[in-house]
Amino acid sequence: MVRRAFFVVLLLCISMVVLAAETREHTIHEILETTGARLQWDADRGIGVLRNANTYVSFRPGSRWGLVNYANQRELGEIRRVDGNIIFSAEAAETVLSILKPARQTSTDRYISTIFIDAGHGGRDPGAVGIHTINGERWEIKEKDIVLDVSMRLRDMLRRGFPERDIVMSREDDTYLRLEERTEAANSVELAENETIIFLSIHANATFNTRAKGFEVWVLPPEERRGGLVDSRTTGVSDPGVLSILNTIREEELTIESVLLSRSLLTGLEGSVGDVAPNRGMKTASWSVVRNARMPSVLVELGFVTNKEEALRMAEPDHLHNLALGLYNGIVEFIRYFEAPQ
Ligand SMILES: [Zn+2]
Repeated sequence: MVRRAFFVVLLLCISMVVLAAETREHTIHEILETTGARLQWDADRGIGVLRNANTYVSFRPGSRWGLVNYANQRELGEIRRVDGNIIFSAEAAETVLSILKPARQTSTDRYISTIFIDAGHGGRDPGAVGIHTINGERWEIKEKDIVLDVSMRLRDMLRRGFPERDIVMSREDDTYLRLEERTEAANSVELAENETIIFLSIHANATFNTRAKGFEVWVLPPEERRGGLVDSRTTGVSDPGVLSILNTIREEELTIESVLLSRSLLTGLEGSVGDVAPNRGMKTASWSVVRNARMPSVLVELGFVTNKEEALRMAEPDHLHNLALGLYNGIVEFIRYFEAPQ
Protein backbone atom coordinates (compact mmCIF):
# COMPACT_ATOMS: atom_id res chain seq x y z
CA MET A 1 0.00 0.00 0.00
CA VAL A 2 1.49 3.27 -1.07
CA ARG A 3 1.61 5.74 1.74
CA ARG A 4 -0.52 8.68 0.82
CA ALA A 5 0.07 11.12 3.58
CA PHE A 6 -1.12 14.01 1.49
CA PHE A 7 -1.47 17.34 3.08
CA VAL A 8 -3.65 19.85 1.36
CA VAL A 9 -1.69 23.03 1.03
CA LEU A 10 -3.82 25.94 0.09
CA LEU A 11 -2.88 29.12 -1.66
CA LEU A 12 -2.40 31.12 1.50
CA CYS A 13 0.25 28.85 2.95
CA ILE A 14 2.69 29.73 0.22
CA SER A 15 1.93 33.39 -0.18
CA MET A 16 4.85 34.49 1.94
CA VAL A 17 7.48 33.06 -0.32
CA VAL A 18 9.89 34.90 -2.55
CA LEU A 19 8.59 35.72 -6.01
CA ALA A 20 10.81 35.24 -9.01
CA ALA A 21 9.01 38.07 -10.74
CA GLU A 22 11.62 39.50 -13.08
CA THR A 23 12.58 36.23 -14.72
CA ARG A 24 10.40 34.13 -16.93
CA GLU A 25 10.26 31.54 -14.20
CA HIS A 26 7.00 31.05 -12.32
CA THR A 27 6.45 30.45 -8.66
CA ILE A 28 3.98 27.77 -7.65
CA HIS A 29 1.78 30.62 -6.46
CA GLU A 30 1.66 32.09 -9.97
CA ILE A 31 0.90 28.69 -11.49
CA LEU A 32 -2.02 28.26 -9.08
CA GLU A 33 -3.31 31.73 -9.74
CA THR A 34 -3.15 31.42 -13.52
CA THR A 35 -4.76 28.00 -13.72
CA GLY A 36 -7.10 28.15 -10.75
CA ALA A 37 -5.62 24.75 -9.81
CA ARG A 38 -5.15 23.47 -6.25
CA LEU A 39 -1.99 22.03 -4.80
CA GLN A 40 -1.74 18.91 -2.69
CA TRP A 41 1.69 18.59 -1.15
CA ASP A 42 3.10 15.36 0.24
CA ALA A 43 5.77 16.74 2.54
CA ASP A 44 7.20 13.31 3.38
CA ARG A 45 7.95 12.37 -0.19
CA GLY A 46 8.44 15.90 -1.53
CA ILE A 47 5.82 15.37 -4.23
CA GLY A 48 3.19 17.86 -5.29
CA VAL A 49 -0.02 17.28 -7.19
CA LEU A 50 -1.68 20.11 -9.07
CA ARG A 51 -5.35 19.52 -9.61
CA ASN A 52 -7.67 21.38 -11.93
CA ALA A 53 -11.12 19.86 -12.51
CA ASN A 54 -10.31 16.31 -13.61
CA THR A 55 -6.67 16.84 -14.48
CA TYR A 56 -3.86 15.95 -12.09
CA VAL A 57 -0.19 16.78 -12.61
CA SER A 58 2.22 15.18 -10.13
CA PHE A 59 5.73 16.62 -9.89
CA ARG A 60 8.78 16.39 -7.69
CA PRO A 61 11.10 19.40 -7.38
CA GLY A 62 14.53 18.31 -8.56
CA SER A 63 13.13 16.02 -11.24
CA ARG A 64 12.24 17.05 -14.80
CA TRP A 65 9.60 14.35 -15.02
CA GLY A 66 6.03 14.30 -13.86
CA LEU A 67 2.88 12.25 -14.13
CA VAL A 68 -0.37 13.34 -15.71
CA ASN A 69 -3.50 11.81 -14.18
CA TYR A 70 -1.32 9.38 -12.18
CA ALA A 71 -0.62 7.46 -15.38
CA ASN A 72 1.16 9.27 -18.19
CA GLN A 73 4.80 10.16 -17.73
CA ARG A 74 5.63 13.56 -19.11
CA GLU A 75 8.78 15.64 -19.23
CA LEU A 76 7.78 18.89 -17.57
CA GLY A 77 11.08 20.77 -17.39
CA GLU A 78 13.12 22.00 -14.47
CA ILE A 79 11.27 22.48 -11.18
CA ARG A 80 13.24 23.28 -8.04
CA ARG A 81 12.82 24.32 -4.44
CA VAL A 82 14.27 27.64 -3.40
CA ASP A 83 13.97 28.82 0.18
CA GLY A 84 10.77 26.91 0.78
CA ASN A 85 9.23 28.05 -2.49
CA ILE A 86 8.74 25.94 -5.61
CA ILE A 87 10.04 27.53 -8.79
CA PHE A 88 9.00 26.38 -12.27
CA SER A 89 11.38 27.13 -15.13
CA ALA A 90 9.83 28.86 -18.14
CA GLU A 91 9.70 25.47 -19.89
CA ALA A 92 8.07 23.71 -16.94
CA ALA A 93 5.58 26.53 -16.45
CA GLU A 94 4.56 26.44 -20.10
CA THR A 95 4.11 22.66 -20.03
CA VAL A 96 2.12 22.65 -16.80
CA LEU A 97 -0.06 25.57 -17.92
CA SER A 98 -0.81 23.84 -21.22
CA ILE A 99 -1.86 20.67 -19.36
CA LEU A 100 -3.97 22.49 -16.80
CA LYS A 101 -5.31 25.15 -19.21
CA PRO A 102 -7.14 27.91 -17.38
CA ALA A 103 -10.82 27.38 -18.04
CA ARG A 104 -11.45 30.98 -19.10
CA GLN A 105 -8.99 31.01 -21.97
CA THR A 106 -10.26 27.83 -23.56
CA SER A 107 -13.91 28.59 -23.09
CA THR A 108 -16.00 30.24 -25.76
CA ASP A 109 -18.83 30.74 -23.29
CA ARG A 110 -19.84 34.28 -22.43
CA TYR A 111 -18.12 35.47 -19.32
CA ILE A 112 -18.62 38.63 -17.28
CA SER A 113 -15.01 39.31 -16.43
CA THR A 114 -15.50 42.78 -15.01
CA ILE A 115 -18.12 44.54 -12.94
CA PHE A 116 -17.78 48.32 -12.99
CA ILE A 117 -19.34 50.17 -10.07
CA ASP A 118 -19.73 53.89 -10.51
CA ALA A 119 -20.44 55.63 -7.21
CA GLY A 120 -22.20 58.78 -8.40
CA HIS A 121 -21.05 62.35 -7.67
CA GLY A 122 -18.24 62.96 -5.14
CA GLY A 123 -15.88 65.72 -4.05
CA ARG A 124 -17.30 69.18 -4.80
CA ASP A 125 -20.44 67.56 -6.26
CA PRO A 126 -22.53 66.29 -3.32
CA GLY A 127 -25.41 65.12 -5.55
CA ALA A 128 -28.81 65.40 -3.90
CA VAL A 129 -28.78 66.75 -0.36
CA GLY A 130 -31.57 65.90 2.06
CA ILE A 131 -32.06 68.51 4.78
CA HIS A 132 -34.36 67.61 7.64
CA THR A 133 -35.13 68.72 11.14
CA ILE A 134 -34.50 66.03 13.73
CA ASN A 135 -35.41 66.87 17.35
CA GLY A 136 -35.35 70.55 16.47
CA GLU A 137 -31.85 70.26 14.96
CA ARG A 138 -30.89 70.69 11.32
CA TRP A 139 -29.67 67.39 9.91
CA GLU A 140 -28.46 66.69 6.39
CA ILE A 141 -27.44 63.72 4.31
CA LYS A 142 -25.60 63.79 0.99
CA GLU A 143 -26.13 61.49 -1.95
CA LYS A 144 -22.38 61.22 -2.61
CA ASP A 145 -21.81 59.67 0.84
CA ILE A 146 -24.69 57.20 0.64
CA VAL A 147 -23.70 55.93 -2.80
CA LEU A 148 -20.03 55.61 -1.91
CA ASP A 149 -20.87 53.60 1.19
CA VAL A 150 -23.17 51.21 -0.69
CA SER A 151 -20.73 50.94 -3.62
CA MET A 152 -17.84 49.97 -1.32
CA ARG A 153 -19.98 47.36 0.44
CA LEU A 154 -21.07 45.99 -2.94
CA ARG A 155 -17.44 45.94 -4.11
CA ASP A 156 -16.41 43.91 -1.06
CA MET A 157 -19.29 41.45 -1.45
CA LEU A 158 -18.47 40.94 -5.13
CA ARG A 159 -14.76 40.47 -4.45
CA ARG A 160 -15.59 37.82 -1.86
CA GLY A 161 -18.19 36.12 -4.03
CA PHE A 162 -16.26 36.31 -7.31
CA PRO A 163 -12.54 36.47 -6.50
CA GLU A 164 -11.69 35.60 -10.11
CA ARG A 165 -13.51 38.60 -11.57
CA ASP A 166 -12.40 42.22 -11.68
CA ILE A 167 -14.47 44.59 -9.61
CA VAL A 168 -13.61 48.10 -10.71
CA MET A 169 -14.74 51.29 -9.00
CA SER A 170 -14.97 54.74 -10.56
CA ARG A 171 -14.05 56.22 -7.16
CA GLU A 172 -13.23 54.79 -3.74
CA ASP A 173 -13.14 58.04 -1.82
CA ASP A 174 -14.68 61.49 -1.84
CA THR A 175 -13.29 62.44 -5.25
CA TYR A 176 -14.86 64.54 -7.97
CA LEU A 177 -15.06 62.86 -11.36
CA ARG A 178 -16.54 64.13 -14.59
CA LEU A 179 -19.20 61.92 -16.19
CA GLU A 180 -16.94 61.23 -19.18
CA GLU A 181 -14.18 60.03 -16.87
CA ARG A 182 -16.52 57.42 -15.44
CA THR A 183 -17.62 55.99 -18.78
CA GLU A 184 -14.14 56.27 -20.29
CA ALA A 185 -12.73 54.23 -17.43
CA ALA A 186 -15.33 51.52 -18.07
CA ASN A 187 -15.00 51.63 -21.87
CA SER A 188 -11.24 51.28 -21.71
CA VAL A 189 -11.24 48.03 -19.71
CA GLU A 190 -9.55 45.39 -21.86
CA LEU A 191 -11.61 42.31 -22.56
CA ALA A 192 -10.96 39.02 -24.30
CA GLU A 193 -13.30 38.04 -27.10
CA ASN A 194 -15.83 36.16 -24.97
CA GLU A 195 -15.63 38.59 -22.05
CA THR A 196 -18.13 41.24 -21.05
CA ILE A 197 -18.16 44.10 -18.59
CA ILE A 198 -21.30 45.40 -16.90
CA PHE A 199 -21.79 48.95 -15.61
CA LEU A 200 -23.79 50.09 -12.59
CA SER A 201 -24.03 53.74 -11.69
CA ILE A 202 -25.25 54.12 -8.11
CA HIS A 203 -27.30 57.16 -7.07
CA ALA A 204 -29.82 58.40 -4.54
CA ASN A 205 -32.92 60.32 -5.47
CA ALA A 206 -34.50 63.68 -4.67
CA THR A 207 -37.85 65.25 -5.49
CA PHE A 208 -40.12 68.04 -4.30
CA ASN A 209 -42.67 65.45 -3.20
CA THR A 210 -41.30 64.66 0.24
CA ARG A 211 -43.48 61.56 0.50
CA ALA A 212 -41.89 59.87 -2.52
CA LYS A 213 -39.78 56.88 -1.50
CA GLY A 214 -38.37 53.64 -2.79
CA PHE A 215 -35.78 52.38 -5.24
CA GLU A 216 -35.76 52.29 -9.03
CA VAL A 217 -33.43 51.32 -11.87
CA TRP A 218 -32.98 53.29 -15.06
CA VAL A 219 -31.96 52.04 -18.49
CA LEU A 220 -31.46 53.79 -21.79
CA PRO A 221 -34.73 54.03 -23.81
CA PRO A 222 -34.73 51.28 -26.46
CA GLU A 223 -35.05 53.81 -29.29
CA GLU A 224 -31.99 55.71 -28.04
CA ARG A 225 -28.78 54.83 -29.89
CA ARG A 226 -25.39 54.65 -28.23
CA GLY A 227 -23.65 54.64 -31.60
CA GLY A 228 -20.13 53.55 -32.48
CA LEU A 229 -20.40 50.22 -30.66
CA VAL A 230 -18.84 48.33 -33.53
CA ASP A 231 -16.25 49.73 -35.93
CA SER A 232 -14.06 48.48 -38.72
CA ARG A 233 -11.09 48.18 -36.39
CA THR A 234 -12.80 45.70 -34.05
CA THR A 235 -14.63 43.74 -36.74
CA GLY A 236 -12.37 43.94 -39.78
CA VAL A 237 -15.49 44.94 -41.76
CA SER A 238 -15.16 48.12 -43.81
CA ASP A 239 -18.53 48.19 -45.63
CA PRO A 240 -20.53 51.02 -43.97
CA GLY A 241 -23.85 49.25 -44.64
CA VAL A 242 -22.70 46.06 -42.91
CA LEU A 243 -21.20 48.03 -40.02
CA SER A 244 -24.49 49.84 -39.55
CA ILE A 245 -26.33 46.51 -39.32
CA LEU A 246 -23.77 45.13 -36.86
CA ASN A 247 -24.18 48.26 -34.76
CA THR A 248 -27.94 47.84 -34.71
CA ILE A 249 -27.63 44.22 -33.62
CA ARG A 250 -25.23 45.18 -30.83
CA GLU A 251 -27.53 48.04 -29.73
CA GLU A 252 -30.36 45.60 -29.42
CA GLU A 253 -28.29 43.12 -27.46
CA LEU A 254 -27.22 45.85 -25.04
CA THR A 255 -30.81 47.01 -24.62
CA ILE A 256 -32.02 43.51 -23.77
CA GLU A 257 -29.09 42.84 -21.43
CA SER A 258 -29.52 46.18 -19.66
CA VAL A 259 -33.22 45.50 -19.14
CA LEU A 260 -32.45 42.06 -17.72
CA LEU A 261 -29.77 43.50 -15.46
CA SER A 262 -32.22 46.13 -14.25
CA ARG A 263 -34.90 43.49 -13.52
CA SER A 264 -32.42 41.33 -11.63
CA LEU A 265 -31.33 44.30 -9.53
CA LEU A 266 -34.92 45.28 -8.76
CA THR A 267 -35.68 41.71 -7.69
CA GLY A 268 -32.55 41.68 -5.54
CA LEU A 269 -33.42 44.98 -3.87
CA GLU A 270 -37.00 43.90 -3.34
CA GLY A 271 -35.71 40.83 -1.52
CA SER A 272 -33.39 42.77 0.75
CA VAL A 273 -35.17 46.08 1.43
CA GLY A 274 -38.65 45.48 -0.04
CA ASP A 275 -40.22 45.37 3.42
CA VAL A 276 -39.33 49.02 4.06
CA ALA A 277 -38.94 50.55 0.60
CA PRO A 278 -41.27 50.22 -2.39
CA ASN A 279 -40.03 48.92 -5.73
CA ARG A 280 -40.67 51.79 -8.16
CA GLY A 281 -39.66 49.60 -11.06
CA MET A 282 -37.61 50.05 -14.20
CA LYS A 283 -37.57 53.43 -15.91
CA THR A 284 -36.00 54.75 -19.06
CA ALA A 285 -34.06 57.97 -19.59
CA SER A 286 -31.04 59.04 -21.53
CA TRP A 287 -28.64 59.45 -18.62
CA SER A 288 -25.24 60.19 -20.10
CA VAL A 289 -23.36 57.58 -18.05
CA VAL A 290 -25.78 54.91 -19.22
CA ARG A 291 -25.74 56.11 -22.83
CA ASN A 292 -21.98 56.42 -23.09
CA ALA A 293 -21.05 53.11 -21.48
CA ARG A 294 -20.65 50.65 -24.37
CA MET A 295 -21.83 47.66 -22.33
CA PRO A 296 -24.93 46.55 -20.43
CA SER A 297 -25.44 49.60 -18.24
CA VAL A 298 -27.95 50.77 -15.64
CA LEU A 299 -28.40 53.61 -13.18
CA VAL A 300 -29.71 52.64 -9.74
CA GLU A 301 -31.54 55.07 -7.47
CA LEU A 302 -31.34 53.65 -3.95
CA GLY A 303 -33.93 55.84 -2.28
CA PHE A 304 -35.00 59.44 -1.67
CA VAL A 305 -32.92 61.77 0.49
CA THR A 306 -35.91 64.16 0.39
CA ASN A 307 -38.08 61.67 2.29
CA LYS A 308 -37.24 62.12 5.96
CA GLU A 309 -37.94 58.53 6.94
CA GLU A 310 -35.94 57.13 4.02
CA ALA A 311 -33.12 59.63 4.50
CA LEU A 312 -32.73 58.54 8.12
CA ARG A 313 -32.75 54.91 7.05
CA MET A 314 -30.00 55.59 4.49
CA ALA A 315 -27.82 56.76 7.37
CA GLU A 316 -28.16 53.32 9.03
CA PRO A 317 -25.36 50.81 8.34
CA ASP A 318 -27.86 47.92 8.38
CA HIS A 319 -29.94 49.47 5.64
CA LEU A 320 -26.86 50.38 3.58
CA HIS A 321 -25.72 46.78 3.93
CA ASN A 322 -29.12 45.54 2.76
CA LEU A 323 -29.07 47.85 -0.24
CA ALA A 324 -25.64 46.51 -1.23
CA LEU A 325 -26.82 42.95 -0.63
CA GLY A 326 -29.84 43.48 -2.86
CA LEU A 327 -27.60 44.75 -5.66
CA TYR A 328 -25.20 41.87 -5.09
CA ASN A 329 -28.00 39.29 -5.31
CA GLY A 330 -29.25 40.98 -8.46
CA ILE A 331 -25.81 40.78 -10.07
CA VAL A 332 -25.51 37.10 -9.09
CA GLU A 333 -28.85 36.44 -10.77
CA PHE A 334 -27.83 38.34 -13.90
CA ILE A 335 -24.52 36.48 -14.15
CA ARG A 336 -26.37 33.17 -13.87
CA TYR A 337 -28.65 34.16 -16.73
CA PHE A 338 -25.94 35.75 -18.87
CA GLU A 339 -23.46 32.92 -18.59
CA ALA A 340 -25.97 30.09 -18.97
CA PRO A 341 -25.16 27.93 -22.02
CA GLN A 342 -26.96 29.33 -25.06
ZN1 LIG B 1 -27.22 61.28 -8.58
